[in-house]
Amino acid sequence: MTRVYLDWNATAPLRPEARAAVAAAFELVGNPSSVHAEGRAARRVVEEARREVAALVGAEPRNVVFTSGGTEANMLALSPATGAGPGGAPCGRLMVSAIEHPSVLAGGRFPPSAVERVPATPIGVIDLVALERRLAALAGEGSGRPLVSLMLAGNESGTLQPVSQAARLTHETGGLLHVDAVQAAGRIPCDINALGADLLTLSGHKTGAPKGVGALIKRDEALALDALVKGGGQERGARAGTENVAAIAGFGAAAAAARAGLEHERAHMDALRRTLEAGLRAISADVIIFGTETERLPNTTLFTVPGMKAETAVIAFDLDGVAVSSGAACSSGKVTPSHVLAAMGVPPALARGAVRVSLGPTTAESDINRFLDAWRKLFQSLTNRRDIAA
Ligand code: PLP
Repeated sequence: MTRVYLDWNATAPLRPEARAAVAAAFELVGNPSSVHAEGRAARRVVEEARREVAALVGAEPRNVVFTSGGTEANMLALSPATGAGPGGAPCGRLMVSAIEHPSVLAGGRFPPSAVERVPATPIGVIDLVALERRLAALAGEGSGRPLVSLMLAGNESGTLQPVSQAARLTHETGGLLHVDAVQAAGRIPCDINALGADLLTLSGHKTGAPKGVGALIKRDEALALDALVKGGGQERGARAGTENVAAIAGFGAAAAAARAGLEHERAHMDALRRTLEAGLRAISADVIIFGTETERLPNTTLFTVPGMKAETAVIAFDLDGVAVSSGAACSSGKVTPSHVLAAMGVPPALARGAVRVSLGPTTAESDINRFLDAWRKLFQSLTNRRDIAA
């Protein structure tokens, strides 16, 4: 039986364009820092990829710093020394929304005492009133320039965050805004200038590039970064180490394909998700789909029925040939309820049952039907075992 892969928020299958670019780059022998022809050929590939990645988010290519992924890009961004230097003060405080990815919640290189969480509202978006209040209080206290980190789209529920409003509030108090756009880029329009983000994180493998490559992107070239990996002067001193040329080439190709297909892919995923959610509702009137009161990514559904345990459901789906995940895949293996649902005020018993289904551009209607068949069986067996109310 062929497998049905519906866990694109954990990682996306490699795009054919990325596979071809990676294979071609593997043939290059040179180090991109070398001046000879072999080195220059590798450099050309890296710079072409830089242009494509920049174009995906409307940035200047020279403001793209390649990293080993989204986690490293977040770590690179979240430093008290970000933006410090001539004309810029260091950041005294890091404010992260309570629904961020663990790589942001960890606080980067800020001491834990300098990190604070801004609550989310029950619909799954940052509480802008609380953010504004805290920014005003910090300005009054003179506790240093704030760095705010807010994701563009949630990896669990797919809810979109009011990033440009947060940017305005942050900038009004002289702060900087970092945006984790890992789940959003390539799925919805994502323009660094329109968002007002000072820094933007991307991860290659969510857009069909190989795993282990990402980027931190600056809006303004003059913004100082505090290198996390120090050594040679690669990436304009922001990230030392010989570039992962093949993965970067794949990232560039995936970014180009995602940009070219954005509208079509978005509409395709949106239509399939409607079918999926209509099917979920038809099978059980009790189904709860999280995040529907606000805008979401077109590809993500986070759902449960009262009494269900997500671990059991994910295993049952897997045995039926369908790959989905419980809550955040980055933390799969952990049975603790999702911090995102907790921040939305969802009771732990309900949050423990949340199953995430995430689609991609090559998901087909037959995949949705297979998923719904598997869910129908699972739901019936749960109901028969009286684990959940009929
Ligand atoms: N940020 C978000 C929102 C994510 O969903 C993820 C991965 O799931 C990351 C950051 C980390 O990216 P990477 O896997 O490239 O380290």
